[in-house]
Amino acid sequence: MDTQVVIIGGGPSGLLLSQLLNRAGIATVILERSTREHVLSRIRAGILEWGSVELLREAGVGARMDAEGFAHDGTWITDADRMVHIDFKALTGKRVMVYGQTEVTQDLYAAQDAMGATILHGVEDVRILDLDGPQAAVEFTLNGEKRRLTCAYVAGCDGFHGVSRRTIPEEKRREFERVYPFGWLGILSRTPPVNDELIYANSPHGFALASMRNANLVRYYVQVPLRDTVEDWSDERFWTEFRRRIPSSAAAKLITGPSIEKSIAPLRSFVSEPLRWGRLFLVGDAAHIVPPTGAKGLNLAASDVFYLHQALTEALKQNSDKGIDAYSDRALRRIWKAMRFSWQMTTMLHRFDGEDSFAAQMRRATLAHLAESETARRDLAENYVGLPY
Ligand SMILES: Cc1cc2nc3c(=O)[nH]c(=O)nc-3n(C[C@H](O)[C@H](O)[C@H](O)COP(=O)(O)OP(=O)(O)OC[C@H]3O[C@@H](n4cnc5c(N)ncnc54)[C@H](O)[C@@H]3O)c2cc1C
Repeated sequence: MDTQVVIIGGGPSGLLLSQLLNRAGIATVILERSTREHVLSRIRAGILEWGSVELLREAGVGARMDAEGFAHDGTWITDADRMVHIDFKALTGKRVMVYGQTEVTQDLYAAQDAMGATILHGVEDVRILDLDGPQAAVEFTLNGEKRRLTCAYVAGCDGFHGVSRRTIPEEKRREFERVYPFGWLGILSRTPPVNDELIYANSPHGFALASMRNANLVRYYVQVPLRDTVEDWSDERFWTEFRRRIPSSAAAKLITGPSIEKSIAPLRSFVSEPLRWGRLFLVGDAAHIVPPTGAKGLNLAASDVFYLHQALTEALKQNSDKGIDAYSDRALRRIWKAMRFSWQMTTMLHRFDGEDSFAAQMRRATLAHLAESETARRDLAENYVGLPY
C-alpha cells in the first residue's frame, strides 16, 4: 500500500484526523482541492465546545488557542429588551472557547508541516475505488497528471459538496434534510465587541447574533431573506438593522466601523446515513450540516474525528475492527442530538416569513420560560457547551 489512510479534504476535519493519526504512528495523505490560502480565507465557525478544546490539545495544537482564545462562561439570549443570561459555568461546570476556525486550521497546517505530513493541494477529479476489496484506491489528477494511491482506509472529510458521500450508492444512503427559508448575513469588522459574551437576539425584525473573534474583531450576523445578496447590504444598512435587533442597552454601546468581510450563508439541517461504506468513512460536513444557531458545525466535525481516529488506530495498530464497525452508529447518536439542538435554537430565535401571530407568541413564551426556569437554562447550557463524546 502507498499509505494507510487517504484523507479527502484538507479542512478542519481532514487536518485534525491526519494530525491525530500521525501522532499515533499512522501514515496519511491528504488530498485537498483548493489552495491553502483559499482554505485559510474562509471565515466560518468561531465557538469551540470544551470537548473540541481538549481534542485540539491532545492533537498537540492547543498552545496558541490557550494563549489567544477567550474562554466564555456564558451567553445571552434576548427577546427585544428582555435579556436572559445562560451561565454555563454555574449550570454545567463547563465553558466554551472563542477561537476562530481559521485559526484552528492555521494551527493544524503548521503542526502537520512540522511533522512532515503529506498534503497535496490542487487535486482534481478524485475517485474513490475498491471499497469492498482487500485495499482501497483513490485516483486523482494533480498538475495535469493522473495519480493513484492505494490504502487501507479512506476518510471522506470533503465537506457538503465533496465526492465522498456521493461514492456511497444512492439507494444505500438515507438523507434527511430541512432547508430554512432565510440565511445569515455575516460581517467581520475591526471594532470592539458590543458585549463581553455572545448575544443571540430574537426581535420583531428577525434574528441577530453578536459574536466576536478577539478584543478588536467582531463577527455580527442578521437573519436575511434567501433572495438577498451581499450587494443588497451596504455597511450602513447592516448596522442600522443590527442595531434595531439587539437589546437597546447593547445598541447604546455599539461601535460601528467598515466591514472587512461580508457573506451570506443559507441555513440547512442535513444528515446522510450511514457514515461508513466498506473502507470509506464520512466525517464532518461531508455527512451532516447544521444551521449555525447552536455553534455545532465545527464541533460535530471534531467529535466525528474523535470517534474515527480511535477506531482507525484500533484497526491499524491492534488489528481490531470493533471501533470501525461501531463508528457510524456511535457518531450518529451524537450528531442527531446536536441536530435537534440546532433546529430548536433556530426555531426559537428566527422569524419565519408568513408566520402567524401564534408562532411569534410561542417564541416569546419559550424565552419567558427560559428566563424563569433554571431547568430550562441548564438544558440549553448542557447542549451548548457540548454533550459528552
Ligand atoms: C459559509 C459557512 C459559515 C459557517 N459558519 C459557521 C458558524 O458560524 N459556526 C459553526 O459552528 N459552524 C459554521 N459553519 C460550519 C463549519 O464551518 C463546518 O462545520 C466545518 O468547516 C466542517 O469542517 P469539514 O472539514 O468537515 O468541512 P469543510 O470545512 O467544508 O472542508 C472540506 C474540505 O474539502 C475540500 N474538498 C471538497 N471537495 C473536494 C474534493 N472533491 N477533493 C478534494 N478536496 C475537496 C474543500 O476544499 C475543503 O477544504 C459554517 C459553514 C459555512 C459553509
